[in-house]
Amino acid sequence: MVVPYKHEPFTDFSVKENREAFEEALKKVEKELLGKDYDLIINGEYVSTDDKIVSYNPANKEEVIGRVSKANQELAEKAMQSADKAFETWRKVDPEERANVLFRAAAEIRRRKHEFSALLVKEAGKPWKEADADTAEAIDFLEYYGRQMLEIKDGKQIQSRPIEHNQYKYIPLGVGITISPWNFPFAIMAGTTVAPIVTGNTVILKPASATPVVAAWFADVMLKAGTPAGVLNYLPGSGSEVGDYLVDHPRTRFISFTGSRDVGTRIWERAAKIQDGQKWLKRVIVEMGGKDTVCVDADADLDLAAQSIVYSAFGFAGQKCSAGSRAVVHQDIYDEVLDRAVKLTNELVTGETKDADVYMGPVIDKGAYDKIMDYIEIGKEEGRLMAGGEGDDSKGYFIKPTIFADLDPKARLMQEEIFGPVVAFSKARDFDHMLEIANNTEYGLTGALLTNDRDKIKRAKEDFHVGNLYFNRGCTGAIVGYQPFGGFNMSGTDSKAGGPDYLVQHMQPKTTSEGL
Ligand code: NAP
Repeated sequence: MVVPYKHEPFTDFSVKENREAFEEALKKVEKELLGKDYDLIINGEYVSTDDKIVSYNPANKEEVIGRVSKANQELAEKAMQSADKAFETWRKVDPEERANVLFRAAAEIRRRKHEFSALLVKEAGKPWKEADADTAEAIDFLEYYGRQMLEIKDGKQIQSRPIEHNQYKYIPLGVGITISPWNFPFAIMAGTTVAPIVTGNTVILKPASATPVVAAWFADVMLKAGTPAGVLNYLPGSGSEVGDYLVDHPRTRFISFTGSRDVGTRIWERAAKIQDGQKWLKRVIVEMGGKDTVCVDADADLDLAAQSIVYSAFGFAGQKCSAGSRAVVHQDIYDEVLDRAVKLTNELVTGETKDADVYMGPVIDKGAYDKIMDYIEIGKEEGRLMAGGEGDDSKGYFIKPTIFADLDPKARLMQEEIFGPVVAFSKARDFDHMLEIANNTEYGLTGALLTNDRDKIKRAKEDFHVGNLYFNRGCTGAIVGYQPFGGFNMSGTDSKAGGPDYLVQHMQPKTTSEGL
């Protein structure tokens, strides 16, 4: 028996010992672990290539986090063959044994928790709290999906007549391709890798090119925890070269992608095309972007509203699919909420994430920096700049937390995912107008409503069309097992990671009937 699932607690950095332990981990990562070379893992073997992906610290462009071997199509083919072969045995392994691999990996990561988080500070520029939460979530996915597998291993109850014995069980699909983003480089990468594995599939993991080192560490942990050769193949490479090749491959049975709308829809289309020799319709999970809204009604607690807006907008520099990049505020309290949000924003500690007090670090790379700065210029045309608006990419990619006011609900800043520390304020005439604006994008991932009116909460539950809706708090920070996560519309297939229905999406139900 395993103990019931409980989410991994976050580290309290107000405690001196915790801060010191984290500083130690950062020192260890800096001194002993940065700048190493990492190999691909194909069929349980480490494979080195001349071509490398170099991972840099976004807060300090000079600092190399690691050099990772880069796969090409030939190596992708080898990985496919190894995964295809391993599937024949892994699919028959007792689900409990498969779950145990996840539990062992979780235990090892928990033992090295600060070390993993320190790596995230370096590789993704995460503030300490955000890095700690990313590692905790990775542990949660392992613990939660392991337990979920134990729950569904015997399938579901169906009826039998006296003349027969009927069973309904879930069986795995085959080879899955996991393609993960850089913004939760540990949690999402790990979750979307182990869900297919624990359900009996084999996986080729193509991590984001900006954060391949944490994925290499994780793959190593999984192997040492007992993942057999070929079940998890670690295959960093270019999205367009290796990604397209694997998505198109006739032996690919399913794809689990998390990332941008553009790449997600491309994968969706390509996977729909039947290739020569393909015997199935590919299953596709795509979880994509968001343009998420914090709504504030006239009766809301104004301090809580300002805090919710600011923290939803600027946590991890707004680089979350769930980031509250729009604040829609009732006209009666608009000026007051805006003032308080500007004040809070100007107090945020930003810069290199060297200690626990730094709230916001850099954005991930030059491409992101340029894109966000372009949006800031657009914002100056479309709205009123209230805070921030500046960037500095001399050492790392730093952008000040930025607030624009008085946006038209249809303005580009209100419609397009910026994926940076920029929040746009728009004024609502009344509650209906607020909901209309909240629903006026093509996305539907997260949202929040601040109000003390139960009728409005009820109405929002029915009409605020997002996959994750929060009341009287911000719109980020979903926890595995507590707030299953996934979005509507162009935010994706709403697979609800960390939820009770997630695993079966990597499986197919089989009915058997025995005559008696
Ligand atoms: P991205 O540019 O779409 O990349 C995601 C992954 O796709 C990376 O591994 C990337 O590889 C790969 N890729 C690129 N082109 C590909 C192709 N043609 N075929 C197959 N794979 C390809 O997204 P990102 O910048 O890493 O992440 C940010 C985005 O993810 C945002 O839009 C955010 O909202 C979204 N996101 C959504 C969720 C959710 O749960 N809904 C969660 C987190 C993030 P390379 O790195 O090698 O290009």
